[in-house]
Amino acid sequence: MLNGKTALVTGSTSGIGLGIAKALARQGANIVLNGFGDVDGPQAQIRALGAEVAYHGANMADPGEIEAMMKFAAGKFGRVDVLVNNAGIQHVAPVDEFPPQKWNDIIAINLSSAFHTSRLALPAMKAANWGRIINVASVHGLVASVQKSAYVAAKHGLVGLTKVTALETATTGVTCNAICPGWVLTPLVQQQVDARAAAGKCSNEEATRQLLGEKEPSMQFTTPEELGELAVFFCSAAGNNIRGVAWNMDGGWAAQ
Ligand code: NAD
Repeated sequence: MLNGKTALVTGSTSGIGLGIAKALARQGANIVLNGFGDVDGPQAQIRALGAEVAYHGANMADPGEIEAMMKFAAGKFGRVDVLVNNAGIQHVAPVDEFPPQKWNDIIAINLSSAFHTSRLALPAMKAANWGRIINVASVHGLVASVQKSAYVAAKHGLVGLTKVTALETATTGVTCNAICPGWVLTPLVQQQVDARAAAGKCSNEEATRQLLGEKEPSMQFTTPEELGELAVFFCSAAGNNIRGVAWNMDGGWAAQ
């Protein structure tokens, strides 16, 4: 379905980003990976699916590095047809104890980076009259939880950016939508399970049960593979006129 097209996924060296990159690779897209940590393993996983892969290590907190990454992707594969804004970090603390630098980092990485990649990808998408921008927001783009002020503000902002981008491209072949996962067991969430187990002096299993039980009626994690298939659906012809939605895959979290 995506043969000859190129997908750039920010924050795709682990977790949800890697799951989405693999799903798009299975559809034949060339993949540009981004993120920190092990980069050889994720590249090998994409190559094993028969797709072409390139990597750029731009820090999503830095607009200059984002610009360099977008130029690199266009130079390597011609243009970016599918842009997945996925990179994200978390920090938990009450508002009056929240470190200002953490606030700035979360807004930069979880929200502003998507503005920069989108503004740089859109001209070529519009010229080709085809493109997909998929913003990985969160159920926290729709509802709030305590201690996550910066994250919730950034994700609500990302849903807003999604709607504006969708309106501005509404008469074109470019669409923009957001994906809003509930809990997904990635390194980002494992840290929260570990903190809960340490605070409650309980096992990993008990901490996991408590974490899901508070918010997610299904008592199940969503998987990166399931989120990857949702991204593929947005890229399909069936998604041609899906514009500006914030689609939750959250085990019923936001339905409560
Ligand atoms: P993760 O920690 O497994 O992966 C995050 C990725 O982003 C990694 O590849 C990391 O290297 C990269 N990254 C971090 N900071 C970066 C930076 N400054 N520049 C470039 N790359 C950077 O996390 P995840 O759970 O897969 O989260 C991915 C996205 O999904 C995030 O936006 C997160 O908010 C969102 N999300 C996660 C969950 C969940 O339950 N895990 C739920 C809802 C939304």
